[in-house]
Amino acid sequence: MATNGLTSDSFTSQVVPLSLNLEQATNLIVERARQLVNQLVEQRGHDKPPFLPGEFARLQGIKRIEKADLGETSAVLLRFHDGYVIKVNQNHHPFRQNFSCAHEIGHTLFSEPKLERYIQNIEYRTFNPQGEKEARATARERLCDAAAAELLMPESVFRKHSSALGASVHSVERLANIFRVSVQPAAIRIAEVSVEPCLALLWQPWPRNKPKGLRLAWCIGPGRHSRGKGCYIPLHTYVRPPSTLHKAYQDDRSVKSFKLFKVDNAVKRLPMESKGFGRDKTRYVISLAFPDR
Ligand SMILES: [Zn+2]
Repeated sequence: MATNGLTSDSFTSQVVPLSLNLEQATNLIVERARQLVNQLVEQRGHDKPPFLPGEFARLQGIKRIEKADLGETSAVLLRFHDGYVIKVNQNHHPFRQNFSCAHEIGHTLFSEPKLERYIQNIEYRTFNPQGEKEARATARERLCDAAAAELLMPESVFRKHSSALGASVHSVERLANIFRVSVQPAAIRIAEVSVEPCLALLWQPWPRNKPKGLRLAWCIGPGRHSRGKGCYIPLHTYVRPPSTLHKAYQDDRSVKSFKLFKVDNAVKRLPMESKGFGRDKTRYVISLAFPDR
């Protein structure tokens, strides 16, 4: 996709734009991740999921992936003179480990000299130098997540599978199992690539120590990297019991409801499906809302 004179083959061009916004940077890193996926698909001779980090590691000069007790850390990338080693938290669920490893592979894409040049030129709009440093670090982490999503759930392959299953809160868990990722990244991916426009929302008990209601943690819609027109934001981001969301939180059945969303200068009522996942302290609710239904 061409954006401001940047094309997908711009890795080979000598022109470095003066500045790059986050959307352009995301396109670049996702494009590079896609090349890696294509390389793997060609090598395997098929594009059947799952796409596992170990398969990409070989292509990216990563010597091995080691499981280790890393405490709170998900994974680390170690750089040696003859290649990289990824250490991943053995205490996390294997699906979460897959995403953590793919995120670290994302960091190795940054270090490729051709991509590095562009990434150095991302614009960070902040008012103090310390803030700029932090904004830069946060942006890098987000870009690595975008790369990880493309590596584990390649857009075209994921779209094919999600279309076959239909955009529904029941498909979230099935897609997560097919692509061997956690429920949350699978839900985000549905919102990003679904043929039918769809929003994914995550609700968590709040306040943490003595929950009184469910609070919106995030809402992802199509075109998430380009905020602005057509962006849906829930009107209410805190829900007190009793509610259909609490029903979804309390038992494992999915529930249907309607929710008000702000979009441009209007408020729209969208149909929504919700389901609870995880257990005890890590229990949460995922909702999918459908602007076109
Ligand atoms: Zn990182």
